[in-house]
Amino acid sequence: MTQPSTPGNEPALYVVATPIGNLGDMVPRAVEVLQTVDLIAAEDTRHSSRLMDHFQIRTPLVAYHDHSDERQVQSLVERLQQGQNLALISDAGTPLVSDPGYRLVRSARQAGIRVIPIPGACALIAALSASGLPSDRFSFEGFLPPKTGQRLNRLQPLAAESRTLIFYEAPHRIEDCLKDMGATFGASREAVLAREISKTFETIRGGTLEELQAFVAADPNQRKGEMVVMVRGQDKAAEQTLDAEAARIMTILLESLSVKQASQIGAEITGLKKKALYQWALEQQEHRG
Ligand code: SAM
Repeated sequence: MTQPSTPGNEPALYVVATPIGNLGDMVPRAVEVLQTVDLIAAEDTRHSSRLMDHFQIRTPLVAYHDHSDERQVQSLVERLQQGQNLALISDAGTPLVSDPGYRLVRSARQAGIRVIPIPGACALIAALSASGLPSDRFSFEGFLPPKTGQRLNRLQPLAAESRTLIFYEAPHRIEDCLKDMGATFGASREAVLAREISKTFETIRGGTLEELQAFVAADPNQRKGEMVVMVRGQDKAAEQTLDAEAARIMTILLESLSVKQASQIGAEITGLKKKALYQWALEQQEHRG
C-alpha cells in the first residue's frame, strides 16, 4: 500500500529529502508535503527560504539542530501530539545523513508519533550509484576528523574492510585525506571521487588513490565544491594475509625499521607469516615511491 502523499488525520513527522544541487531533483511529493504541513523544522531557515521561494512553499519555518536544547525538541513533539503535522528538512539531501534530525526523529517515535520518510536526493547514494564500485555491500563513514593523526586512527581499522567505503569530505581537506587514505589502504587501492553531483561541474573520477591524489593536486578546480570519496574494499585474498591490526603494527614498525626487520618482528607479534608481511611491506613502499 502506498503512503498518503499529504498529511491525513493522524499527525506525522515527515522527514523530507531536498536536492543536493539541482532543484530539478525536488520530488513532487516533497513539495506537496512541505506546502501542506503546519510547520517545517529546518537546519538553517535562511538557507531553506530560497528553496521555499522557488517552490512557493509558504509554511512557517523554525530552526532545528541536534544540539538544540531539549525543550525545543519537546515543544516540536508536543505540537505533533496536539495533532499538528511537521516536516523536517536539512540544507541539502536527506536529513539525518551527516545532518540534523536524529534527536527529533527518535523523540517523535518514542512518543508514538508516526514518522514518514519522503525519499529523494542523498549524496552518498547518488555517488555510489555512478561509481562503478561494488555496491552490494557498503559502509558509510560520514566525515573523517580534520586532523591527520585522528584521521589515520579512524582509517586504520578500515584497512581490511571488504565493503566499499564511502566518506564525505570538505574540499580544503581532500588532498590530505587522499594522502592519508593512500598511506593506510595502499596507494594502489581503487577509489572514486564524486564532486558537485547534479551541478554544472559534476565530476566523477576513478583511479588508484595515488592517481586521484595527483589529479586533485594538479587541478585546483578539483579542490572546490562538495565531494564524496569512495574506496573499494580490500579484496578477500589480501584480507586473509593481513588484517587491520596487523597492518597497523606493520605501519608503525616500518616507520623505523627496514622491510626485512619489520616483517620479522611483525611476524613475531602477529603470528602471521613473515613472507606475507614482507610482500605487503614491499607493496606499501612501492606505492609510496
Ligand atoms: N544530508 C546530505 C545527504 O543526504 O547527502 C549530506 C549533508 S553533509 C552536511 C554535506 C556533505 O555531503 C558534503 O560535504 C559532501 O561531502 C556531500 N555532498 C552534498 N552534496 C553533494 C554534491 N552535490 N556532490 C557531492 N557531494 C555532496
